[in-house]
Amino acid sequence: MKKIILTGDRPTGNLHLGHYVGSLKNRVELQEKHDYDEMYVFIADTQALTDNFNNPKKVRDNIIEVALDYLSVGLDPNKVTIFIQSMISPLCELTMYYMNLVTLSRLERNPTVKTEIKQKDFGNSIPVGFLNYPISQTADITAFEATIVPVGEDQLPMLEQAREIVRSFNNIYGKTLVEPEALIPDSVVCRRLPGTDGKAKMSKSLGNCIYLKDDSKTVKKKVMSMYTDPNHLKVEDPGNTKDNPVFIYLEALSTDEHFKKYLPEYKNLDELKAHYEKGGLGDVKVKNFLYEVIEDTLRPIREKRKYYEDNIDLVYDILKEGSAKALEKANSTLKKVKKAMLIDYFD
Ligand code: ATP
Ligand code: MG
Repeated sequence: MKKIILTGDRPTGNLHLGHYVGSLKNRVELQEKHDYDEMYVFIADTQALTDNFNNPKKVRDNIIEVALDYLSVGLDPNKVTIFIQSMISPLCELTMYYMNLVTLSRLERNPTVKTEIKQKDFGNSIPVGFLNYPISQTADITAFEATIVPVGEDQLPMLEQAREIVRSFNNIYGKTLVEPEALIPDSVVCRRLPGTDGKAKMSKSLGNCIYLKDDSKTVKKKVMSMYTDPNHLKVEDPGNTKDNPVFIYLEALSTDEHFKKYLPEYKNLDELKAHYEKGGLGDVKVKNFLYEVIEDTLRPIREKRKYYEDNIDLVYDILKEGSAKALEKANSTLKKVKKAMLIDYFD
């Protein structure tokens, strides 16, 4: 069986450190290992519209932002097909057919959807399109016959839903679709990076992000005002590192090299944590270190971004070419699906 990798991001804002550690880093590593047959990365505008249908400009403007973020972290259009979801109309057709295979109660039970419905204050007025988005995600995944989907932990229920639809489809219409598998980061803290406010997830919609495009000054400001342990009032107080986003970010991003370079009095993160937990280590010192670590991470990303910002036509060409290539692939899957469903009347 072919090894096909697919992931996407919603153009609802710029990509942030959560995306970086939860998914982008994995994607670039996979790309560099080149241990796959095909790799697709897409900008999920159709999905973004399910909860931003009344703000089309936001979605449109963020297409190019997300594309710039992709290219600046090192996704390479020569190795990966980068495309825009709404350019691929077979995805809508597939969604329509898969809708028959899922019950309303199953969609309402999806934990990610449940959390997001609460977050978005839909109350009892949930748009059908929003509730339907796990089905549309299944269309995305199956259209490209993806076997591996690198995502953060919040997407696991989506992958489960996709697998159920695939099994159900194959049972009814004969083996046609490929069952995907989620690839989540090895490191637990990277699976769901918390926000700078200490909330469970850094998320564009919650405004608690450090963005990949943030400049040094902005990063400094955000890091210095980050939530830490609220009981760590005086430097001497023993501190909590477990639910402390400053330490969680260090866990996700820092290496022993960073310690050598910026904080040589500690060998590694374990030593720093031990000191904080014992008491006698102030937040400002830890935050200053975190700032340096984030800067080391973002510096090369900013440089690449600048190149593509100065060559923006190139970015549009990449999206256009990628979308044309993706359309071919999705059409070929749609053809198989229609044949299996006996609706290929004139073939
Ligand atoms: P929105 O608030 O609009 O839903 P988002 O910040 O959740 O935006 P998405 O575009 O929905 O971002 O997510 C894209 C990918 O990034 C998904 O695979 C998701 O699991 C992953 N991801 C998003 N936020 C985080 C995070 N804080 N930690 C780890 N992975 C994340
Ligand atoms: Mg999301």
